[in-house]
Amino acid sequence: MAMRMSTLFLRTLREDPADAELPGHKLLVRAGYIRRVAPGVYTWLPLGLRVLQKVEGVVREEMNRIGAQEVRLPALLPREPYEATGRWTEYGEALFRLQDRKGSDMLLGPTHEEIFCLTVKDMYSSYKDLPLSLYQIQTKYRDEARPRAGLLRGREFIMKDSYSFDVDQAGLQKSYDAHREAYVRIFDRLGFEYVIVHADSGAMGGSASEEFLAVSEFGEDTFVRDEHGYAANVEAVQVPQAAEVDASAVPAAQVHDTPGTPTIDTLVARLNEAHPREDGRAWTAADTLKNVLVMLHQPDGTREPLAVGVPGDREVDPKRLEAQVAPAEPEPFTDEDFAAFPALAKGYIGPGALGEDKPAGIRYLLDPSIAVGSEWVTGADERGKHVLHLVHGRDFTADGTIQAAQIREGDPSPDGHGSLTLARGMEMGHIFQLGTKYAEALGLKVLDENGKLVTVTMGSYGVGVSRSVAAVAEGNRDEAGLVWPRAFAPADVHLVATGKDEAVFVAAEEIVSGLEAQDLTVLYDDRRKVSPGVKFKDAELIGVPTIVVVGKGLADGKIEIKDRRSGDRREVPVEDAVAEVLREVRG
Ligand code: ATP
Ligand code: MG
Repeated sequence: MAMRMSTLFLRTLREDPADAELPGHKLLVRAGYIRRVAPGVYTWLPLGLRVLQKVEGVVREEMNRIGAQEVRLPALLPREPYEATGRWTEYGEALFRLQDRKGSDMLLGPTHEEIFCLTVKDMYSSYKDLPLSLYQIQTKYRDEARPRAGLLRGREFIMKDSYSFDVDQAGLQKSYDAHREAYVRIFDRLGFEYVIVHADSGAMGGSASEEFLAVSEFGEDTFVRDEHGYAANVEAVQVPQAAEVDASAVPAAQVHDTPGTPTIDTLVARLNEAHPREDGRAWTAADTLKNVLVMLHQPDGTREPLAVGVPGDREVDPKRLEAQVAPAEPEPFTDEDFAAFPALAKGYIGPGALGEDKPAGIRYLLDPSIAVGSEWVTGADERGKHVLHLVHGRDFTADGTIQAAQIREGDPSPDGHGSLTLARGMEMGHIFQLGTKYAEALGLKVLDENGKLVTVTMGSYGVGVSRSVAAVAEGNRDEAGLVWPRAFAPADVHLVATGKDEAVFVAAEEIVSGLEAQDLTVLYDDRRKVSPGVKFKDAELIGVPTIVVVGKGLADGKIEIKDRRSGDRREVPVEDAVAEVLREVRG
Protein backbone atom coordinates (compact mmCIF):
# COMPACT_ATOMS: atom_id res chain seq x y z
CA MET A 1 0.00 0.00 0.00
CA ALA A 2 0.99 3.62 -0.39
CA MET A 3 0.52 6.61 1.88
CA ARG A 4 0.59 9.85 -0.06
CA MET A 5 1.97 12.75 1.87
CA SER A 6 -0.30 15.18 0.02
CA THR A 7 -3.23 13.64 1.89
CA LEU A 8 -1.65 11.80 4.80
CA PHE A 9 -2.84 13.03 8.21
CA LEU A 10 0.58 14.37 9.15
CA ARG A 11 2.23 17.64 10.12
CA THR A 12 5.90 17.57 10.89
CA LEU A 13 7.28 20.20 13.25
CA ARG A 14 10.62 21.98 13.01
CA GLU A 15 10.57 22.92 16.68
CA ASP A 16 10.70 20.61 19.67
CA PRO A 17 7.41 20.28 21.54
CA ALA A 18 7.47 22.04 24.91
CA ASP A 19 6.11 19.12 26.91
CA ALA A 20 8.64 16.54 25.80
CA GLU A 21 11.77 15.66 27.75
CA LEU A 22 13.46 12.78 25.99
CA PRO A 23 15.07 13.11 22.58
CA GLY A 24 13.26 10.12 21.09
CA HIS A 25 9.95 11.40 22.37
CA LYS A 26 10.56 14.84 20.87
CA LEU A 27 11.23 13.18 17.54
CA LEU A 28 8.05 11.08 17.72
CA VAL A 29 6.07 14.28 18.20
CA ARG A 30 7.99 16.33 15.63
CA ALA A 31 7.82 13.58 13.02
CA GLY A 32 4.07 13.27 13.42
CA TYR A 33 3.77 9.87 15.06
CA ILE A 34 1.97 10.91 18.22
CA ARG A 35 0.40 13.97 19.81
CA ARG A 36 -0.19 14.77 23.41
CA VAL A 37 -3.80 15.24 24.52
CA ALA A 38 -3.16 15.61 28.27
CA PRO A 39 -0.22 14.77 30.52
CA GLY A 40 0.52 11.09 29.94
CA VAL A 41 -2.29 10.75 27.37
CA TYR A 42 -1.44 10.47 23.69
CA THR A 43 -3.04 10.16 20.29
CA TRP A 44 -1.51 7.72 17.83
CA LEU A 45 -1.44 9.31 14.39
CA PRO A 46 -1.32 7.16 11.23
CA LEU A 47 2.47 6.70 11.20
CA GLY A 48 2.63 6.07 14.93
CA LEU A 49 -0.21 3.60 14.85
CA ARG A 50 1.60 1.60 12.20
CA VAL A 51 4.71 1.32 14.39
CA LEU A 52 2.59 0.44 17.41
CA GLN A 53 0.82 -2.28 15.45
CA LYS A 54 4.14 -3.75 14.37
CA VAL A 55 5.36 -3.92 17.95
CA GLU A 56 2.04 -5.48 18.95
CA GLY A 57 2.48 -7.97 16.12
CA VAL A 58 5.82 -9.16 17.48
CA VAL A 59 4.41 -9.52 20.97
CA ARG A 60 1.34 -11.38 19.67
CA GLU A 61 3.40 -13.81 17.59
CA GLU A 62 5.62 -14.73 20.51
CA MET A 63 2.70 -15.12 22.92
CA ASN A 64 0.87 -17.33 20.43
CA ARG A 65 4.05 -19.38 19.99
CA ILE A 66 3.97 -20.45 23.65
CA GLY A 67 0.30 -21.37 23.36
CA ALA A 68 -1.12 -18.38 25.18
CA GLN A 69 -4.60 -17.46 23.92
CA GLU A 70 -5.57 -13.90 23.12
CA VAL A 71 -8.68 -12.40 24.69
CA ARG A 72 -9.76 -8.87 25.48
CA LEU A 73 -11.29 -7.99 28.79
CA PRO A 74 -12.89 -4.65 29.50
CA ALA A 75 -10.85 -1.71 30.76
CA LEU A 76 -13.89 -0.38 32.64
CA LEU A 77 -14.23 -2.57 35.70
CA PRO A 78 -16.41 -2.97 38.76
CA ARG A 79 -15.03 -2.27 42.21
CA GLU A 80 -16.00 -5.52 43.95
CA PRO A 81 -13.23 -7.85 42.76
CA TYR A 82 -10.61 -5.23 43.56
CA GLU A 83 -12.22 -4.81 46.95
CA ALA A 84 -11.95 -8.57 47.50
CA THR A 85 -8.19 -8.55 46.90
CA GLY A 86 -7.62 -5.32 48.80
CA ARG A 87 -6.34 -3.47 45.78
CA TRP A 88 -9.23 -0.99 45.60
CA THR A 89 -7.50 0.61 48.57
CA GLU A 90 -3.91 -0.57 48.16
CA TYR A 91 -3.53 0.76 44.65
CA GLY A 92 -3.88 4.21 46.17
CA GLU A 93 -3.88 7.36 44.10
CA ALA A 94 -2.66 5.65 40.96
CA LEU A 95 -6.07 4.05 40.44
CA PHE A 96 -8.50 5.90 38.19
CA ARG A 97 -11.83 5.60 39.97
CA LEU A 98 -15.21 6.65 38.71
CA GLN A 99 -18.89 6.13 39.39
CA ASP A 100 -21.65 5.11 37.05
CA ARG A 101 -25.01 6.92 36.95
CA LYS A 102 -26.34 4.72 39.73
CA GLY A 103 -23.46 5.70 41.96
CA SER A 104 -21.66 2.35 41.74
CA ASP A 105 -17.90 2.57 42.04
CA MET A 106 -15.91 1.54 39.02
CA LEU A 107 -12.30 1.77 37.94
CA LEU A 108 -10.19 1.88 34.82
CA GLY A 109 -8.00 -1.21 34.94
CA PRO A 110 -4.34 -0.62 35.85
CA THR A 111 -3.69 -4.39 35.52
CA HIS A 112 -6.15 -7.26 35.35
CA GLU A 113 -5.29 -10.08 37.76
CA GLU A 114 -8.72 -9.97 39.41
CA ILE A 115 -10.81 -10.06 36.27
CA PHE A 116 -8.77 -12.80 34.59
CA CYS A 117 -9.03 -14.83 37.76
CA LEU A 118 -12.82 -14.43 37.82
CA THR A 119 -13.15 -15.16 34.11
CA VAL A 120 -11.37 -18.49 34.55
CA LYS A 121 -13.41 -19.23 37.67
CA ASP A 122 -16.56 -18.64 35.61
CA MET A 123 -15.65 -21.21 33.00
CA TYR A 124 -13.30 -23.82 34.47
CA SER A 125 -13.60 -26.21 37.39
CA SER A 126 -11.20 -29.13 36.83
CA TYR A 127 -7.46 -29.71 36.84
CA LYS A 128 -8.03 -31.19 33.38
CA ASP A 129 -8.71 -27.68 32.09
CA LEU A 130 -5.26 -26.53 33.15
CA PRO A 131 -2.60 -25.35 32.43
CA LEU A 132 -3.98 -22.24 30.78
CA SER A 133 -2.34 -19.00 29.68
CA LEU A 134 -4.43 -16.06 28.51
CA TYR A 135 -3.29 -12.69 27.28
CA GLN A 136 -4.58 -9.40 25.99
CA ILE A 137 -3.08 -6.34 24.35
CA GLN A 138 -5.05 -3.56 25.87
CA THR A 139 -5.20 -0.05 27.22
CA LYS A 140 -4.28 0.39 30.86
CA TYR A 141 -4.91 3.35 33.13
CA ARG A 142 -2.72 4.53 35.96
CA ASP A 143 -2.74 8.01 37.41
CA GLU A 144 1.06 8.17 37.51
CA ALA A 145 2.53 10.81 39.79
CA ARG A 146 5.14 11.92 37.26
CA PRO A 147 3.90 11.37 33.72
CA ARG A 148 6.80 13.32 32.27
CA ALA A 149 8.62 10.86 30.13
CA GLY A 150 5.99 10.78 27.39
CA LEU A 151 5.01 7.33 26.21
CA LEU A 152 7.47 5.76 28.62
CA ARG A 153 5.24 6.65 31.53
CA GLY A 154 1.73 7.20 30.28
CA ARG A 155 -1.41 7.56 32.34
CA GLU A 156 -3.16 5.75 29.50
CA PHE A 157 -0.86 3.20 27.90
CA ILE A 158 -0.87 -0.11 26.11
CA MET A 159 0.25 -3.26 27.79
CA LYS A 160 0.33 -6.88 26.86
CA ASP A 161 -0.65 -8.64 30.02
CA SER A 162 -0.91 -12.38 30.42
CA TYR A 163 -1.91 -14.65 33.23
CA SER A 164 -1.13 -18.31 33.73
CA PHE A 165 -3.24 -20.79 35.68
CA ASP A 166 -1.82 -24.02 37.08
CA VAL A 167 -2.71 -26.58 39.72
CA ASP A 168 0.69 -26.59 41.40
CA GLN A 169 4.05 -24.85 41.74
CA ALA A 170 5.71 -27.16 39.20
CA GLY A 171 3.09 -26.12 36.66
CA LEU A 172 3.52 -22.45 37.51
CA GLN A 173 7.28 -22.78 37.08
CA LYS A 174 6.74 -24.22 33.60
CA SER A 175 4.34 -21.44 32.62
CA TYR A 176 6.78 -18.89 34.00
CA ASP A 177 9.69 -20.39 32.09
CA ALA A 178 7.67 -20.38 28.87
CA HIS A 179 6.86 -16.71 29.36
CA ARG A 180 10.47 -15.96 30.12
CA GLU A 181 11.51 -17.54 26.82
CA ALA A 182 8.80 -15.65 24.95
CA TYR A 183 10.03 -12.40 26.49
CA VAL A 184 13.62 -13.14 25.50
CA ARG A 185 12.42 -13.58 21.92
CA ILE A 186 10.26 -10.45 22.04
CA PHE A 187 13.03 -8.22 23.32
CA ASP A 188 15.62 -9.79 21.00
CA ARG A 189 13.33 -8.92 18.11
CA LEU A 190 12.70 -5.41 19.38
CA GLY A 191 16.46 -4.98 19.26
CA PHE A 192 17.02 -3.59 22.74
CA GLU A 193 20.14 -4.05 24.73
CA TYR A 194 18.45 -5.52 27.77
CA VAL A 195 19.16 -7.30 31.02
CA ILE A 196 16.98 -9.71 32.96
CA VAL A 197 17.11 -8.72 36.61
CA HIS A 198 15.72 -10.03 39.86
CA ALA A 199 12.81 -7.82 40.77
CA ASP A 200 11.02 -6.75 43.83
CA SER A 201 7.60 -8.32 44.20
CA GLY A 202 6.18 -4.95 45.18
CA ALA A 203 2.53 -4.43 45.85
CA MET A 204 1.52 -7.47 43.80
CA GLY A 205 2.25 -10.09 46.44
CA GLY A 206 3.83 -13.35 45.42
CA SER A 207 7.38 -14.48 45.03
CA ALA A 208 9.70 -15.10 42.08
CA SER A 209 9.81 -12.18 39.76
CA GLU A 210 12.12 -10.84 37.08
CA GLU A 211 12.17 -7.67 35.04
CA PHE A 212 13.43 -7.08 31.53
CA LEU A 213 15.20 -3.73 31.56
CA ALA A 214 16.33 -1.93 28.41
CA VAL A 215 19.73 -0.50 29.25
CA SER A 216 19.39 3.26 28.87
CA GLU A 217 20.65 6.44 30.47
CA PHE A 218 17.03 7.62 30.40
CA GLY A 219 15.82 4.67 32.44
CA GLU A 220 13.97 5.31 35.66
CA ASP A 221 15.23 2.09 37.22
CA THR A 222 18.71 1.44 38.58
CA PHE A 223 20.03 -2.07 38.42
CA VAL A 224 23.19 -3.80 39.59
CA ARG A 225 25.28 -6.49 37.94
CA ASP A 226 28.33 -8.45 38.95
CA GLU A 227 30.98 -10.33 37.01
CA HIS A 228 29.30 -13.69 37.70
CA GLY A 229 25.99 -12.96 36.04
CA TYR A 230 24.03 -11.75 39.05
CA ALA A 231 21.71 -8.91 38.07
CA ALA A 232 19.00 -7.23 40.10
CA ASN A 233 16.93 -4.11 40.25
CA VAL A 234 18.35 -2.08 43.17
CA GLU A 235 14.90 -2.39 44.71
CA ALA A 236 15.43 -6.14 44.99
CA VAL A 237 19.04 -6.24 46.21
CA GLN A 238 19.18 -8.09 49.52
CA VAL A 239 22.17 -6.84 51.49
CA PRO A 240 23.18 -9.77 53.73
CA GLN A 241 22.97 -9.44 57.49
CA ALA A 242 26.47 -8.54 58.70
CA ALA A 243 27.99 -11.14 61.02
CA GLU A 244 28.26 -10.27 64.69
CA VAL A 245 31.57 -8.67 65.74
CA ASP A 246 33.35 -8.73 69.09
CA ALA A 247 32.68 -5.60 71.11
CA SER A 248 34.43 -6.63 74.33
CA ALA A 249 37.17 -4.00 73.89
CA VAL A 250 34.80 -1.13 73.10
CA PRO A 251 34.66 1.46 75.90
CA ALA A 252 31.38 2.39 77.49
CA ALA A 253 29.18 4.76 75.53
CA GLN A 254 29.94 8.44 76.18
CA VAL A 255 27.78 11.46 75.42
CA HIS A 256 29.72 14.52 74.20
CA ASP A 257 28.79 18.08 73.41
CA THR A 258 28.95 18.52 69.65
CA PRO A 259 27.34 21.91 69.14
CA GLY A 260 26.34 22.90 65.62
CA THR A 261 26.67 19.41 64.12
CA PRO A 262 23.25 18.55 62.72
CA THR A 263 24.73 17.03 59.55
CA ILE A 264 27.10 14.11 59.06
CA ASP A 265 29.79 16.39 57.54
CA THR A 266 29.75 18.86 60.43
CA LEU A 267 29.74 15.97 62.89
CA VAL A 268 32.76 14.25 61.30
CA ALA A 269 34.70 17.55 61.25
CA ARG A 270 33.89 18.14 64.90
CA LEU A 271 34.86 14.58 65.91
CA ASN A 272 38.25 14.87 64.24
CA GLU A 273 38.88 18.22 65.88
CA ALA A 274 37.59 17.58 69.40
CA HIS A 275 37.69 13.79 69.80
CA PRO A 276 40.52 12.33 67.69
CA ARG A 277 40.46 8.56 67.50
CA GLU A 278 42.96 6.62 69.58
CA ASP A 279 43.95 4.37 66.69
CA GLY A 280 45.26 7.39 64.78
CA ARG A 281 42.99 7.16 61.75
CA ALA A 282 40.50 9.93 61.07
CA TRP A 283 36.77 9.65 61.75
CA THR A 284 34.74 9.22 58.58
CA ALA A 285 31.05 9.33 57.80
CA ALA A 286 31.09 5.51 57.85
CA ASP A 287 31.69 5.61 61.61
CA THR A 288 28.43 7.41 62.18
CA LEU A 289 24.91 6.08 62.37
CA LYS A 290 22.38 8.25 60.58
CA ASN A 291 18.74 7.98 61.58
CA VAL A 292 16.34 9.09 58.88
CA LEU A 293 12.68 9.71 59.66
CA VAL A 294 9.92 9.35 57.13
CA MET A 295 6.15 9.49 57.38
CA LEU A 296 4.43 6.53 55.77
CA HIS A 297 1.14 7.38 54.11
CA GLN A 298 -0.97 4.25 54.02
CA PRO A 299 -3.44 3.83 51.17
CA ASP A 300 -6.32 3.95 53.67
CA GLY A 301 -5.22 7.46 54.61
CA THR A 302 -3.54 6.67 57.92
CA ARG A 303 -0.04 7.93 58.64
CA GLU A 304 2.71 6.20 60.52
CA PRO A 305 6.27 7.37 61.24
CA LEU A 306 9.26 5.16 60.48
CA ALA A 307 12.92 5.60 61.42
CA VAL A 308 15.62 4.03 59.28
CA GLY A 309 19.18 3.68 60.58
CA VAL A 310 21.93 3.61 57.96
CA PRO A 311 25.69 4.11 58.07
CA GLY A 312 26.34 7.85 57.77
CA ASP A 313 28.20 7.49 54.48
CA ARG A 314 25.04 6.22 52.75
CA GLU A 315 21.71 7.77 51.95
CA VAL A 316 18.39 6.06 52.25
CA ASP A 317 17.55 5.16 48.63
CA PRO A 318 14.01 6.45 47.99
CA LYS A 319 13.17 3.68 45.52
CA ARG A 320 14.45 0.90 47.77
CA LEU A 321 12.53 2.36 50.66
CA GLU A 322 9.37 2.71 48.56
CA ALA A 323 9.63 -0.92 47.48
CA GLN A 324 9.95 -2.04 51.10
CA VAL A 325 7.05 -0.08 52.49
CA ALA A 326 4.63 -0.48 49.55
CA PRO A 327 1.72 0.00 49.35
CA ALA A 328 2.45 2.80 51.80
CA GLU A 329 4.21 5.85 50.38
CA PRO A 330 7.07 7.41 52.33
CA GLU A 331 7.08 11.20 52.61
CA PRO A 332 9.81 13.33 54.17
CA PHE A 333 9.29 14.19 57.83
CA THR A 334 8.02 17.76 58.08
CA ASP A 335 8.57 20.31 60.83
CA GLU A 336 5.00 19.62 61.91
CA ASP A 337 5.81 15.93 62.18
CA PHE A 338 8.82 16.77 64.34
CA ALA A 339 6.66 18.97 66.51
CA ALA A 340 4.33 16.02 67.08
CA PHE A 341 7.24 13.94 68.44
CA PRO A 342 9.05 16.12 71.00
CA ALA A 343 11.33 13.19 71.92
CA LEU A 344 13.05 13.68 68.55
CA ALA A 345 15.91 16.21 68.59
CA LYS A 346 16.14 17.10 64.90
CA GLY A 347 19.75 16.71 63.72
CA TYR A 348 20.67 14.74 66.85
CA ILE A 349 18.30 11.78 66.66
CA GLY A 350 19.65 8.56 68.07
CA PRO A 351 18.49 5.03 68.91
CA GLY A 352 17.73 6.23 72.43
CA ALA A 353 14.53 7.82 71.18
CA LEU A 354 13.66 5.30 68.52
CA GLY A 355 11.83 2.02 68.65
CA GLU A 356 8.31 0.80 69.25
CA ASP A 357 8.98 0.38 72.97
CA LYS A 358 10.38 3.92 73.39
CA PRO A 359 8.25 6.91 74.44
CA ALA A 360 7.82 8.23 70.89
CA GLY A 361 6.82 4.74 69.79
CA ILE A 362 8.38 5.10 66.36
CA ARG A 363 9.23 1.88 64.54
CA TYR A 364 13.00 1.73 64.05
CA LEU A 365 14.63 -0.44 61.38
CA LEU A 366 18.34 -0.82 60.69
CA ASP A 367 20.33 -1.46 57.56
CA PRO A 368 21.49 -5.11 57.71
CA SER A 369 25.12 -3.99 57.27
CA ILE A 370 24.98 -2.74 60.87
CA ALA A 371 26.40 -5.74 62.73
CA VAL A 372 25.58 -6.70 66.26
CA GLY A 373 28.69 -5.64 68.19
CA SER A 374 29.58 -2.75 65.85
CA GLU A 375 30.14 0.64 67.47
CA TRP A 376 28.80 3.96 66.27
CA VAL A 377 28.75 7.68 66.77
CA THR A 378 25.16 8.83 66.66
CA GLY A 379 22.70 11.36 68.00
CA ALA A 380 22.23 11.54 71.77
CA ASP A 381 18.63 12.77 71.40
CA GLU A 382 19.50 16.17 72.78
CA ARG A 383 20.24 19.26 70.77
CA GLY A 384 24.01 19.64 70.22
CA LYS A 385 24.97 16.24 71.65
CA HIS A 386 26.21 12.99 70.15
CA VAL A 387 27.12 9.70 71.71
CA LEU A 388 30.37 7.81 70.98
CA HIS A 389 31.05 4.07 71.34
CA LEU A 390 27.40 3.14 71.08
CA VAL A 391 27.32 -0.59 70.40
CA HIS A 392 24.52 -2.32 68.52
CA GLY A 393 23.15 -5.12 70.67
CA ARG A 394 24.89 -3.81 73.81
CA ASP A 395 23.60 -0.25 74.02
CA PHE A 396 20.73 -0.26 71.58
CA THR A 397 18.49 -2.49 69.55
CA ALA A 398 16.03 -1.86 66.76
CA ASP A 399 12.67 -3.34 65.79
CA GLY A 400 14.17 -5.11 62.78
CA THR A 401 16.07 -4.51 59.56
CA ILE A 402 15.12 -2.89 56.27
CA GLN A 403 16.67 -3.06 52.78
CA ALA A 404 16.60 0.65 52.10
CA ALA A 405 20.19 1.95 52.13
CA GLN A 406 21.69 3.15 48.91
CA ILE A 407 23.63 0.53 46.94
CA ARG A 408 26.95 1.80 45.60
CA GLU A 409 29.31 0.95 42.78
CA GLY A 410 31.82 -1.60 44.10
CA ASP A 411 29.60 -2.95 46.90
CA PRO A 412 29.99 -6.70 47.36
CA SER A 413 27.43 -8.91 45.61
CA PRO A 414 24.80 -10.29 47.98
CA ASP A 415 26.29 -13.80 47.66
CA GLY A 416 29.70 -12.44 48.69
CA HIS A 417 31.38 -13.33 45.39
CA GLY A 418 32.07 -10.40 43.13
CA SER A 419 31.30 -6.72 43.27
CA LEU A 420 28.45 -4.68 41.92
CA THR A 421 28.34 -2.18 39.09
CA LEU A 422 25.37 0.11 38.64
CA ALA A 423 23.55 1.17 35.49
CA ARG A 424 20.18 2.54 34.49
CA GLY A 425 17.40 0.83 32.62
CA MET A 426 13.78 1.12 31.53
CA GLU A 427 11.46 -1.64 32.64
CA MET A 428 10.04 -3.13 29.45
CA GLY A 429 8.65 -6.35 30.82
CA HIS A 430 7.92 -8.03 34.09
CA ILE A 431 7.26 -11.70 34.80
CA PHE A 432 5.88 -12.72 38.10
CA GLN A 433 4.94 -15.87 40.01
CA LEU A 434 1.88 -14.64 41.85
CA GLY A 435 1.04 -17.90 43.55
CA THR A 436 -2.37 -18.22 45.14
CA LYS A 437 -2.93 -14.68 46.45
CA TYR A 438 -5.55 -13.70 43.87
CA ALA A 439 -7.08 -17.15 43.43
CA GLU A 440 -7.54 -17.41 47.17
CA ALA A 441 -9.13 -13.99 47.53
CA LEU A 442 -11.51 -14.65 44.66
CA GLY A 443 -12.12 -18.35 45.24
CA LEU A 444 -10.60 -19.78 42.08
CA LYS A 445 -10.38 -23.51 42.86
CA VAL A 446 -10.48 -26.63 40.73
CA LEU A 447 -10.93 -30.31 41.49
CA ASP A 448 -7.65 -32.20 41.36
CA GLU A 449 -7.10 -35.82 40.29
CA ASN A 450 -8.38 -37.05 43.65
CA GLY A 451 -11.53 -35.00 43.55
CA LYS A 452 -10.15 -32.56 46.08
CA LEU A 453 -10.57 -28.79 45.64
CA VAL A 454 -7.25 -27.02 45.18
CA THR A 455 -6.57 -23.32 44.82
CA VAL A 456 -5.19 -22.43 41.41
CA THR A 457 -1.72 -20.89 41.33
CA MET A 458 -1.22 -17.94 39.01
CA GLY A 459 1.49 -16.08 37.18
CA SER A 460 1.23 -12.59 35.76
CA TYR A 461 3.33 -11.21 32.95
CA GLY A 462 3.46 -7.76 31.37
CA VAL A 463 5.07 -6.09 28.38
CA GLY A 464 4.91 -2.34 27.94
CA VAL A 465 3.82 -2.15 24.32
CA SER A 466 3.52 1.63 23.97
CA ARG A 467 6.60 2.00 26.16
CA SER A 468 8.41 -0.30 23.73
CA VAL A 469 7.63 2.06 20.85
CA ALA A 470 9.19 4.87 22.86
CA ALA A 471 12.20 2.72 23.75
CA VAL A 472 12.77 1.70 20.13
CA ALA A 473 12.59 5.40 19.19
CA GLU A 474 15.06 6.34 21.95
CA GLY A 475 17.47 3.72 20.76
CA ASN A 476 17.22 4.46 17.04
CA ARG A 477 17.76 8.10 16.15
CA ASP A 478 20.36 10.64 15.13
CA GLU A 479 20.65 14.42 14.83
CA ALA A 480 18.30 14.52 11.87
CA GLY A 481 15.54 12.31 13.18
CA LEU A 482 14.32 8.79 13.78
CA VAL A 483 16.06 5.80 12.20
CA TRP A 484 13.65 2.88 12.45
CA PRO A 485 14.78 -0.71 12.37
CA ARG A 486 13.11 -2.26 9.32
CA ALA A 487 10.79 -4.42 11.37
CA PHE A 488 9.12 -1.43 13.02
CA ALA A 489 9.28 1.29 10.37
CA PRO A 490 5.90 2.75 9.41
CA ALA A 491 6.75 2.04 5.77
CA ASP A 492 9.31 0.02 3.85
CA VAL A 493 10.27 2.87 1.56
CA HIS A 494 10.00 6.63 1.63
CA LEU A 495 9.81 7.81 -1.96
CA VAL A 496 10.50 11.49 -2.52
CA ALA A 497 9.56 13.10 -5.81
CA THR A 498 11.17 16.51 -6.31
CA GLY A 499 10.90 19.34 -8.79
CA LYS A 500 8.17 20.68 -11.01
CA ASP A 501 8.72 18.37 -13.93
CA GLU A 502 5.58 16.29 -14.52
CA ALA A 503 7.74 13.42 -15.79
CA VAL A 504 9.18 13.04 -12.27
CA PHE A 505 5.74 12.42 -10.81
CA VAL A 506 4.78 10.05 -13.59
CA ALA A 507 7.95 8.01 -13.01
CA ALA A 508 7.47 8.13 -9.24
CA GLU A 509 3.87 6.89 -9.51
CA GLU A 510 5.09 4.01 -11.60
CA ILE A 511 7.71 3.04 -9.04
CA VAL A 512 5.12 3.30 -6.26
CA SER A 513 2.82 0.93 -8.15
CA GLY A 514 5.70 -1.45 -8.75
CA LEU A 515 6.58 -1.50 -5.06
CA GLU A 516 2.96 -1.93 -4.03
CA ALA A 517 2.72 -4.88 -6.38
CA GLN A 518 5.61 -6.40 -4.44
CA ASP A 519 3.65 -5.93 -1.22
CA LEU A 520 5.83 -3.14 0.06
CA THR A 521 4.43 -0.19 1.96
CA VAL A 522 5.46 3.13 0.46
CA LEU A 523 5.38 6.52 2.04
CA TYR A 524 5.21 8.67 -1.08
CA ASP A 525 6.04 12.36 -0.88
CA ASP A 526 3.92 13.56 -3.80
CA ARG A 527 3.49 17.11 -2.52
CA ARG A 528 3.69 19.59 -5.36
CA LYS A 529 4.30 22.84 -3.55
CA VAL A 530 6.92 21.74 -1.09
CA SER A 531 10.60 22.38 -1.71
CA PRO A 532 13.06 19.48 -2.11
CA GLY A 533 14.88 20.69 1.01
CA VAL A 534 11.79 20.37 3.16
CA LYS A 535 10.98 16.98 1.68
CA PHE A 536 14.48 15.66 2.40
CA LYS A 537 14.35 17.01 5.94
CA ASP A 538 10.98 15.35 6.51
CA ALA A 539 12.30 12.05 5.16
CA GLU A 540 15.23 12.15 7.58
CA LEU A 541 12.95 13.12 10.44
CA ILE A 542 10.38 10.38 9.77
CA GLY A 543 13.14 7.80 9.56
CA VAL A 544 11.94 5.16 7.08
CA PRO A 545 15.06 3.00 6.49
CA THR A 546 15.13 3.29 2.68
CA ILE A 547 14.69 6.64 0.96
CA VAL A 548 14.23 6.78 -2.81
CA VAL A 549 14.63 10.10 -4.61
CA VAL A 550 13.12 10.67 -8.02
CA GLY A 551 14.24 14.10 -9.18
CA LYS A 552 16.89 15.82 -11.25
CA GLY A 553 18.68 12.57 -12.08
CA LEU A 554 15.65 11.34 -13.99
CA ALA A 555 16.77 13.38 -17.00
CA ASP A 556 19.69 10.91 -17.22
CA GLY A 557 17.43 7.96 -16.45
CA LYS A 558 18.65 7.70 -12.86
CA ILE A 559 17.04 7.66 -9.43
CA GLU A 560 18.78 7.64 -6.07
CA ILE A 561 18.48 5.12 -3.23
CA LYS A 562 19.62 6.22 0.18
CA ASP A 563 20.06 4.21 3.33
CA ARG A 564 18.71 6.30 6.21
CA ARG A 565 20.95 4.72 8.82
CA SER A 566 24.33 4.70 7.09
CA GLY A 567 23.66 7.66 4.80
CA ASP A 568 25.02 5.61 1.89
CA ARG A 569 23.48 6.63 -1.41
CA ARG A 570 23.70 5.17 -4.88
CA GLU A 571 22.20 5.97 -8.26
CA VAL A 572 20.43 3.25 -10.18
CA PRO A 573 18.72 3.24 -13.58
CA VAL A 574 15.06 4.13 -13.22
CA GLU A 575 13.99 0.88 -14.86
CA ASP A 576 15.78 -1.09 -12.10
CA ALA A 577 14.25 0.98 -9.30
CA VAL A 578 11.77 -1.61 -8.02
CA ALA A 579 14.26 -4.48 -8.13
CA GLU A 580 16.97 -2.43 -6.41
CA VAL A 581 14.64 -1.23 -3.68
CA LEU A 582 13.48 -4.79 -3.13
CA ARG A 583 17.10 -5.80 -2.66
CA GLU A 584 17.50 -3.14 0.01
CA VAL A 585 14.33 -4.03 1.83
CA ARG A 586 14.45 -7.81 1.66
CA GLY A 587 18.24 -8.13 1.78
P1 ATP B 1 7.18 0.89 36.60
O1 ATP B 1 8.07 0.30 37.67
O2 ATP B 1 7.92 1.39 35.41
O3 ATP B 1 6.16 1.84 37.13
P2 ATP B 1 5.44 -1.30 36.97
O4 ATP B 1 6.33 -2.20 37.72
O5 ATP B 1 4.40 -0.54 37.66
O6 ATP B 1 6.33 -0.32 36.07
P3 ATP B 1 4.00 -3.49 35.80
O7 ATP B 1 2.81 -3.36 36.63
O8 ATP B 1 4.96 -4.60 36.04
O9 ATP B 1 4.78 -2.10 35.78
O10 ATP B 1 3.52 -3.43 34.28
C1 ATP B 1 4.04 -4.24 33.24
C2 ATP B 1 4.71 -3.40 32.17
O11 ATP B 1 3.89 -2.33 31.73
C3 ATP B 1 5.96 -2.72 32.66
O12 ATP B 1 7.05 -3.62 32.58
C4 ATP B 1 6.10 -1.56 31.70
O13 ATP B 1 6.77 -1.97 30.51
C5 ATP B 1 4.68 -1.21 31.35
N1 ATP B 1 4.23 -0.02 32.08
C6 ATP B 1 3.96 0.09 33.40
N2 ATP B 1 3.57 1.33 33.70
C7 ATP B 1 3.58 2.04 32.54
C8 ATP B 1 3.26 3.38 32.20
N3 ATP B 1 2.83 4.24 33.10
N4 ATP B 1 3.38 3.78 30.89
C9 ATP B 1 3.81 2.89 29.96
N5 ATP B 1 4.12 1.62 30.23
C10 ATP B 1 4.01 1.18 31.49
MG1 MG C 1 6.94 -3.99 37.38
